[in-house]
Amino acid sequence: MMNDGSLPDWADIVVVGGGNAAFCAALAARESGASVLMLERAPQAEAGGNSRFTAGAIRCVYDGVADLQRLMPELTEAEIAKTDFGTYRQEQYFDDMGTVTEYRCDPDLVEILVIRSRETLLWMRSKGVRFQPMWGQQAFEVDGRFTFWGGLAIETMGGGPGLVDALSAAALKAGIDISYGARAVSLIADESGVQGLRVKRAGRGHNVRAGAVVLACGGFEANHEWRARYLGPGWDLAKVRGTRFNTGDGIRMALEIGAAPYGHWSGCHAVGWDRNAPEFGDLAVGDGFQKHSYPFAIMINADGERFVDEGADFRNYTYAKYGAVILRQPGQFAWQIFDAKVSHLLRDEYRIRQVTKVAADTLEELVQNLAGVKADRALETIKAFNAAVRLDIPFDPNIKDGRGTEGLAPAKSNWANTIDQPPFEAFAVTCGVTFTFGGLRIDTTGQVLDTDLEPMTGLYGAGELVGGLFYSNYPGGAGLMSGSVFGRLSGTSAAAHAISVPGAMMEKLIDLP
Ligand SMILES: Cc1cc2nc3c(=O)[nH]c(=O)nc-3n(C[C@H](O)[C@H](O)[C@H](O)COP(=O)(O)OP(=O)(O)OC[C@H]3O[C@@H](n4cnc5c(N)ncnc54)[C@H](O)[C@@H]3O)c2cc1C
Repeated sequence: MMNDGSLPDWADIVVVGGGNAAFCAALAARESGASVLMLERAPQAEAGGNSRFTAGAIRCVYDGVADLQRLMPELTEAEIAKTDFGTYRQEQYFDDMGTVTEYRCDPDLVEILVIRSRETLLWMRSKGVRFQPMWGQQAFEVDGRFTFWGGLAIETMGGGPGLVDALSAAALKAGIDISYGARAVSLIADESGVQGLRVKRAGRGHNVRAGAVVLACGGFEANHEWRARYLGPGWDLAKVRGTRFNTGDGIRMALEIGAAPYGHWSGCHAVGWDRNAPEFGDLAVGDGFQKHSYPFAIMINADGERFVDEGADFRNYTYAKYGAVILRQPGQFAWQIFDAKVSHLLRDEYRIRQVTKVAADTLEELVQNLAGVKADRALETIKAFNAAVRLDIPFDPNIKDGRGTEGLAPAKSNWANTIDQPPFEAFAVTCGVTFTFGGLRIDTTGQVLDTDLEPMTGLYGAGELVGGLFYSNYPGGAGLMSGSVFGRLSGTSAAAHAISVPGAMMEKLIDLP
């Protein structure tokens, strides 16, 4: 580990970034025999990118419990007996990617994501990453049995911090150099391809030459100016859920030397996030500012109106697009309102100390306490909602229960419950941007393509900065999975290329035992 400010002049592979995609690229390249240098812009205390902020939910194909046992041999018979894991087959994953992106996603990239998901998690396990079932957030207990409902059964042990710790340990063990506080600023390239990078570290510039470069340094979600420029007016007002270091550097550097932009540049993943959360993510809180139990609530805006179908689908298929809907409301905020009947279903994030919450024993009192909301209209909205709930249909949080509203606009399609049992609780949310969807274009080996759609020699990409996978919406857990799959792929491809570069071979003779 290189914390002394020095940087080597050369590495077979330089990986830019310090999150999940970067580590997977670095480990794969090293496994192929290449010498690897990782450049992480953040200081070590803030390293790990958005990956470190996650819950570690990771969307992977599994054909049944046997697959999960291979990934999680620690699962006990008692745990298996009390859980209906169901399956998440390749065709379900393809369907989910197609449906949520309105069939805009790049079929070649999706095929790689889906088909390699299971083997990639097994590979990560072989590197020391551990997984566990997501009982807490993806399965509700009904009659003593848990049922997984959203295709997302697996999380990394220790969440995002656990994932980054495990990957960092694996990198250290594999002999990968990591330079923290090292910001890649531009690519060094000539007509024969990418030759290295210009790096800024501790106020000084360095040139690092490389056999190949893998860009895995995130999207542009933490760049206010680019958000307003590409996502549109108002997006500069969103909070950033994760790292402050993902400002689009990798995308910019590649575009500067002729890379093709790709994917949904005006789209992003954005959720309901505490109205008073800080400007960027706080590692001590992690993803705790999110408020994802809205399928059991109604959401009311400043005008006292509902504005979206809170129960349109399971949380995994709506949460990533509802941040944008909240951003479009007057004042960019909303209140989520729950009554005592559903309070046991609220996710852990509703019980943290840093929460913007009001509670009351009557609805009249509650609406008076909703800061910024027209109280009289809010009360009318709640009463109209209560009158429209289909009480004849039983409530079941584990299925799309069809217990909706009748004659209401917007409708609530599932999990509608009257709001009439005190105490009442309301939580204020605004839009929190997670990551941007637009980025670079890669081929099926992970190599970056130029604007003529020709592969750019020596340049590879993975993770958030790859465009073409997500449009308008996103199925929960696919971000980490894509970072892992394309990280591993690009690392392997980059190493194969670099090892064919004469300088790299020479370096290896010197370097390896
Ligand atoms: C709060 C939150 C919760 C989330 N929960 C989940 C979840 O449970 N499951 C899921 O699948 N996804 C989740 N996501 C999305 C997920 O974090 C991302 O899709 C994924 O981690 C992206 O991985 P990455 O390696 O591409 O980027 P990152 O992990 O963000 O890594 C990018 C890295 O690049 C570095 N960097 C940036 N610029 C430079 C530069 N110029 N030079 C050097 N380094 C640079 C950054 O410091 C950072 O280390 C969540 C995101 C957030 C913010």
